[in-house]
Amino acid sequence: MEVIDGNRIAAEIVAELKAEVAAMHGRKPCIALVRVGDDPASVSYVRKKGQTAAEIGIESRILLPPVTIGQSALEGLVDSLNADPMVDGILVQSPLPAGIDERAVFGRISPEKDVDGFSPVNLGKLAQEDETGFPSCTPSGIMELLSRSGVNLEGRHVVVLGRSLIVGKPAALLLVQKKAGANATVTICHSKTANLPSITRQADVLVAAIGRPEFVKADMVKPGVVVIDVGVNRIPDASRKSGYRLVGDVDFAGVAPLASKITPVPGGVGPMTVAMLMRNTVKAFRQRAGG
Ligand code: NAP
Repeated sequence: MEVIDGNRIAAEIVAELKAEVAAMHGRKPCIALVRVGDDPASVSYVRKKGQTAAEIGIESRILLPPVTIGQSALEGLVDSLNADPMVDGILVQSPLPAGIDERAVFGRISPEKDVDGFSPVNLGKLAQEDETGFPSCTPSGIMELLSRSGVNLEGRHVVVLGRSLIVGKPAALLLVQKKAGANATVTICHSKTANLPSITRQADVLVAAIGRPEFVKADMVKPGVVVIDVGVNRIPDASRKSGYRLVGDVDFAGVAPLASKITPVPGGVGPMTVAMLMRNTVKAFRQRAGG
């Protein structure tokens, strides 16, 4: 059994991007990071994104509008970033405060700056296999983890647990693409799926993205399975200073002995999401600059 090291693979991608940006002449790529309010997870995600950008040589602008900002003012802020020629990528950190229509805000971001890949145009381009689009970061991080770990997906049965627009659906679209590195046979499962364990036991590769701590148990997988655990769940742990620890959607201790490869939580998919955001930002810069 091999534990797939997301930190190492993400660091490889960051190093590649750093070399690519260092070779650029003139203006460097720039990402605008918008965080509304002080949600602790959002604070740490945006900090990490800013740090990784700096490491690569990508400029970042962090915008912190107050939690009281309304829908129209937030959309106005997005409009001003859309219009700013020095900004290549825009990320609005989710979740947004209650009362704000998140989908409308994401949809407001110009498709050519939508480096998170959540706008309808980029989801459509993903479905059309149009390479000019920006695939959302966690799903493309999953693909990168699999390919850099030597997992050949062609003809394999991948079962995706979860059908969200952020992870499950775009991951399934990438896995089923008609191209080298994909060509998988994909089954998507969700909370209404009947006989779930009988389906997960058929998986050559299992992608778990449901947000249920340690939901996938050993009796739900077949020996030799490759497991990608996307879940990030906080569970109480009195032995930790923070009072909690992070676990995935997979019971790692039970499933790992059966798996051929498995991602840990933390240190699996999480670091890849940030690396792919940076890759999308460099791509946006190149496309806006005409190559
Ligand atoms: P989400 O929007 O809440 O979607 C969860 C999906 O799981 C839904 O499709 C839901 O089905 C399905 N589901 C829930 N309980 C289920 C069950 N018992 N059996 C089968 N399916 C079930 O969550 P998300 O945004 O996709 O995130 C999923 C997990 O990934 C979360 O833990 C999140 O924190 C994590 N995540 C991690 C990263 C990263 O960078 N590592 C990025 C994004 C998300 P229905 O559609 O029927 O409700």
